[in-house]
Amino acid sequence: MLTLDQDITYVPGVGPRRAELLNKELGIRTVGDLLDYFPYKYVDRSRFYRIAEINGTMPYVQLYGQILSFESEGEGRGRRLVAHFGDGTGIVDLVWFQGAKYIAKTYDTRTPYVVFGKPQPYHGRYNIAHPEIEKPDSSVAEMVRRSAFEQQLFDRQQASAGVEQELFPTTDDAPAAPEPQHPAQPHSALRPAYNTTERMKRGMMQSNVLSRIVSHVLSQLAAPFEETLPASLVERLKLMSHDEAMRNIHFPASADSLRRAQSRLKFEELFYVQLNILRYAKARDRKYRGLVFSRVGDAFNGFYFHHLPFQLTNAQKRVIREIRTDMGSGRQMNRLLQGDVGCGKTLVALMCALLAVDNGCQTCIMAPTEILAEQHLATLRQLLGDMPVRVELLTGSVKGKARKRILDDLQAGHVHILVGTHAVIEENVLFAHLGLVVIDEQHRFGVAQRARLWQKNVVPPHVLVMTATPIPRTLAMTLYGDLDVSVIDELPPGRKPIRTIHQFDAHRRTLNEHIRRQIQLGRQVYIVYPLIKESEKMDIKNLEAGFAQVKTDFPECSVSMVHGKLKPAEKDAEMQRFVRGETQIMVATTVIEVGVNVPNASVMVIENAERFGLSQLHQLRGRVGRGAEQSFCILVTKYQLSDVTRKRIQVMVDSNDGFEIAEQDLKLRGPGDLEGTQQSGMAFNLRIANLAKDGILLQMARNEAAALLDADPAENHPENAVAWQRLQQLRKTHVDWSAIS
Ligand code: ADP
Ligand code: MG
Repeated sequence: MLTLDQDITYVPGVGPRRAELLNKELGIRTVGDLLDYFPYKYVDRSRFYRIAEINGTMPYVQLYGQILSFESEGEGRGRRLVAHFGDGTGIVDLVWFQGAKYIAKTYDTRTPYVVFGKPQPYHGRYNIAHPEIEKPDSSVAEMVRRSAFEQQLFDRQQASAGVEQELFPTTDDAPAAPEPQHPAQPHSALRPAYNTTERMKRGMMQSNVLSRIVSHVLSQLAAPFEETLPASLVERLKLMSHDEAMRNIHFPASADSLRRAQSRLKFEELFYVQLNILRYAKARDRKYRGLVFSRVGDAFNGFYFHHLPFQLTNAQKRVIREIRTDMGSGRQMNRLLQGDVGCGKTLVALMCALLAVDNGCQTCIMAPTEILAEQHLATLRQLLGDMPVRVELLTGSVKGKARKRILDDLQAGHVHILVGTHAVIEENVLFAHLGLVVIDEQHRFGVAQRARLWQKNVVPPHVLVMTATPIPRTLAMTLYGDLDVSVIDELPPGRKPIRTIHQFDAHRRTLNEHIRRQIQLGRQVYIVYPLIKESEKMDIKNLEAGFAQVKTDFPECSVSMVHGKLKPAEKDAEMQRFVRGETQIMVATTVIEVGVNVPNASVMVIENAERFGLSQLHQLRGRVGRGAEQSFCILVTKYQLSDVTRKRIQVMVDSNDGFEIAEQDLKLRGPGDLEGTQQSGMAFNLRIANLAKDGILLQMARNEAAALLDADPAENHPENAVAWQRLQQLRKTHVDWSAIS
C-alpha cells in the first residue's frame, strides 16, 4: 500500500534510476508529486485505423495487425531495427533506433498486436518510430469490430485499389445495424499522454511507461484522496470529489468524467489562487489605516480652473472621482488605472498628486526608463507652468551635488512631486511625508516590490498603478487581483484612428515611397527593429544594417538611431534631436516602446513585426497618432508566416483597441507568453487552469473565495478548516504565493 508522501523510488516499476530521472526532469519526488503531474492530453484509443487510411496529417494512429518480418537496416549510429507491420490493407514500418534487442526478443511474427504512434512518410511508405506496441486485451476485439464497421464504406471505395490479402477478416462479423454516430466511450478508451523530456525518452521513460506507473500507484493507494475543498462548496457547485477527480484526470472513465474532473481541478486551483490574493488584500485593509485626503484646495483647484489646457474627457473625470473617493475614505488606496495608450493617464496622475499637495503630502511617480521619467518631468512642469508646485527628477544619472540637493529638499518637504526610475526605491531616498505613489507603465512590478514603497512613510501611501498594456480581465484578476480597478475607456477627442498596414519586406519600394511622401509633408517617421535578448549581438547588427540602408534610401534626410546599448546620455541626445525635429527618421529598438511623445511623428514602421508580441506592437503603434494628422503603422514581415502569426498580424490590422488585442493575444499565445507575466513573480505556473480559456471558472472561483472570506473572516469555522489548511500548505510549496504576505 502506498501513501502520498512516500518516496517515488520504492514504487514498483520505478527504482533508483527512474526516480532520479523523474526527480531531475520533472521535480517529482513523492507519490503525491507523481499524481499531481497531469496528462497534457488524452488519446482516444477506441478508434482503430487501417493502414490504407493513413495520410500525412495524422498526429497519431492506432493500428491492429501483425509483424510480417524483422529487418536490421543502416550502419553505425543510423542502425535500426525495422518491423514490417501489416493489417491486410497495407504495410507500415515500425522503427527502433534503440532497444532493438529487447524488441526482437519480446515481439514475434505470429501474435496480433495493437500499435500506436505517429506515422511519417518515408520512401513512399509510412513508418512509425518507437511505437507503443502491446498485445490486445479482450476489449480490443470489440473496438476493432466497431471501428471496422465504420470503415466499411471506406473499404468499398478502396475495393478496386488492389487491397492486399486480408490478414484479419474482421469485417465478416461486423454488426449488421449501423452504430450510433458517437457510441459511448468504452472504459479506458481515453488514454493519458504525459509530457516527457528528451532525457526521459532516451531513458525509455515515455508517456506510456509513466502512465503504467501512475496506474499502478493509483490502484495501490492506501486511502482515498482527502477532500481539499469545503464540503458545502463541493455540494453546492456539484463538483466531483477530489478523489474521483484525481483518478479521472489520469484515467477518465468517459469523456464526460474527464470534463468534470478537469473543471473540478481547475476550479480548485483558481479558487486557492484567488483566496490567497483576496485574503492578502483584506488583511492589508485591516492592518493599515490610509491617509485621509479630505481637502480639495488651491493646488487642485488652481490647476483645474487656470492651467488645464483642455477639457477632461468623461472617462478622466470619472476616474479622478473614483480615486478621490478612495483616497478620502480612510483606507489605503491600492488601485490599478488601466487605459489605452494616449488616453491621458499622466494628467490623471498629476491631478491626484495635486490632491496630495492640498493635503500636505508628497507624491512619487515611478517610470520604467530614464527617458520616460525625463519626459514625465518635462510634461508635468509644462502643465504646471508657474504654479508653486515643485517637481524634481531622480534617476541613476542624477549624481553628485544635484542629487544631494534633491534628496535634502525631499526630506525637508520642499519637493512636492518626485519623478524617477527604480532609483527612488533606494533606502537613502527619504520623504518628509509621502502620501501617494504612482507607478507608470509597470507590468513588471510585483506585489512584493510595491509593498516596499510603503515603508517610505509611517502610514503607507496610497498606490496607483498605471498601465497602458491593457491586460485581459482574467489576467488582471490574477496579476493585480488585490487591486481595485479604474478604467479610462475613452480617448481625447479629435484623434484620427491610426491606419495599420501589413507589408511584405519584398515590397520595400512601395514602403519607401510612402515614407518619403510623409516626410515631404513635414512629418517624422519611426523605424523599429526587434531586439530579443538571446540574440542581442545579431539584433544590433540588424539594426545597424537597417540604419545604413535607411541612410542610403533617404539621402535627403537626417536619421537618428537609438538602442539599449547606448549610454543614457547618448540615447537621450539622440532622442532629443528627434523630439526637436532635427532628424526626420528615428531608427530604434523597442527602447522607444514606452511613453515617448512626438506628436509630429505620423509613421511607425515595424520591421520583423512577426517577432513582436501583440501588446508590444500596440504600444509601439501608440507612438504615432498623437497629432491631428492621419497616422500610419506599417507592419513589415517576411512572406512566409505561420497560421498563428498571420492571424496575429491580422488582429493588429483589424483593431485599434488595446483590450481586444490583448484578449486575442492571450487566446492565440496563452498567458505564459504574454509580456510581463514572466517577470511578474505571480502564480502563473498554473497546473491545469488556463487563463485564456477558463475565464468563467475564474470568475466563479473569485466570487466563491470572496464569499468564504466574508463569511469566515476569523478563519475559524470548522467546516472551512480544510480550505485554510490547504491554503497554508500551498503557500509553503508555492514560493511566489507567500511573497504576498
Ligand atoms: P497615456 O495614457 O498613454 O500616458 P498621455 O498621458 O501621455 O497618455 O496623454 C497623451 C496625450 O494626450 C498627451 O499629449 C496629453 O497632453 C493629451 N491629453 C490628455 N488628456 C487630454 C484631454 N482630455 N484632451 C485632450 N488631450 C489630452
Ligand atoms: Mg503614459
